[in-house]
Amino acid sequence: MQPIIDRNPSTGEVLAEIPGATLSEIQGAVATARQAQGGWAQLSPADRAQKLQGMVASLEKREGKIARAITQEMGKTFAAATGEVKGYTGGVSAQVEEVCKAMQPDDFSTDKMQTQVVRAPHGVVAAITPWNFPLGMPLSILIPALGAGNSVVFKPSEHVPLTGVLIFDAIAENVPAGVITLVQGAGDVGAALVESDVDMIGFVGSRDTGKRIMSSAAGELKRLVLELGGKDPVIVFADSDLEAAAECVTGGSLRNTGQVCCSVERVFVEASVSDKFESMVLEKAKAWKHGDGFEENVNMGPLVSVEQRDKVAAQVTEAVRDGARLLLGGQTPEGPGAFYPATVLAGVDPSLRVARDETFGPVVSLSTFNGEEAEAIRLGNDTPYGLGASVWSGDVERGRRVAGALQAGQVGVNRYLAGAAGTPWVGARQSGFGFLGGIEGHRQFATPKTLSVPV
Ligand code: ADP
Repeated sequence: MQPIIDRNPSTGEVLAEIPGATLSEIQGAVATARQAQGGWAQLSPADRAQKLQGMVASLEKREGKIARAITQEMGKTFAAATGEVKGYTGGVSAQVEEVCKAMQPDDFSTDKMQTQVVRAPHGVVAAITPWNFPLGMPLSILIPALGAGNSVVFKPSEHVPLTGVLIFDAIAENVPAGVITLVQGAGDVGAALVESDVDMIGFVGSRDTGKRIMSSAAGELKRLVLELGGKDPVIVFADSDLEAAAECVTGGSLRNTGQVCCSVERVFVEASVSDKFESMVLEKAKAWKHGDGFEENVNMGPLVSVEQRDKVAAQVTEAVRDGARLLLGGQTPEGPGAFYPATVLAGVDPSLRVARDETFGPVVSLSTFNGEEAEAIRLGNDTPYGLGASVWSGDVERGRRVAGALQAGQVGVNRYLAGAAGTPWVGARQSGFGFLGGIEGHRQFATPKTLSVPV
């Protein structure tokens, strides 16, 4: 299969060249995982949880190495990479406990029988993950998949193979041999893994790849959890705390150089305050400096690759050609590296590609609406995606009404999207199929099975 050329997107330097797993290596990794799965599934959820808790120390031990690998391989700032490693490692213990709780049986009875609903693992799970949160995204699949008693074949993104090895090592040293195996490669390896003898695919990545996986999994009705992209809207009514809304919009659009599945992609501001709001966003966006993630005073690294940067640049150029106003950025810098500056567009017509296709870059895209709830809802829902959304209004009841009508899995009122700890990460419509996190999300890595006996 296609080899991986792992490049530092800040410099273009080749960090590693790794051959893509061959078909027989992929099949071997699946067979090894299958062999190990039976014994792993026989452990109680609590015994599995105890072993998985060992990951905390194993990740902590590698904290510096993982953070450095993340910055080198995909470019995010070292501070952000360190934050990701600390944050997700700090969350492992609670996640493992929550999965253990989700796997407990439920008892039912009538006067004739007693039934226990147990949670049977699916078997072997392919974990296919992206590069934007190179530790966080894999953990969101690996922990519930393993905790439920599945074994896992892990394929990290071809952009972060070295980070993938560190994650694999941190887990492998805590579970019996073969319970997790690793394959490296690009989309061709991912596709072959989906086709192989796995029972479930846990995937985080783009909508188009999600669709391909779904159609390839259909032949054997393999189980799926697909967490996909979004085109998240933010709706700002004139009576909002505009300063707080501008902060949310700017940070939400530019964080991780805009490469976040739930980044703010479309902003609809009530027309009567749009000039004021544009100025606020512009001032805030000017403070976002791009550069090598290891440099001081940099808030955004490069895009993950030159190809990704060029896609973003093309959307911006096209938008400006077709009437959007460029308030900041929008010029591809000279020199090496996949850099692109913080960019602010205003007057973006909802028909433009930048308002329709996922941008996945550091672009704040501002549009206006007339202040009517129905119009805000129509614009917000004018996308096939449905990951997150956010509504800002001084009238919280109105905020709740609009939030209730938006077709998104996670909506915030006067804040951005994600829910409190313990709630799932959900994409509605074409932003997902199945979902991750919370008791309900964890349970998708097992199938309920009823065991009944007469009384
Ligand atoms: P992104 O480029 O935004 O990471 P992708 O959906 O292309 O999004 O990639 C996410 C993960 O899916 C990566 O690990 C990638 O190698 C893998 N992948 C890409 N194409 C396929 C495919 N056809 N089948 C399975 N996995 C794939």
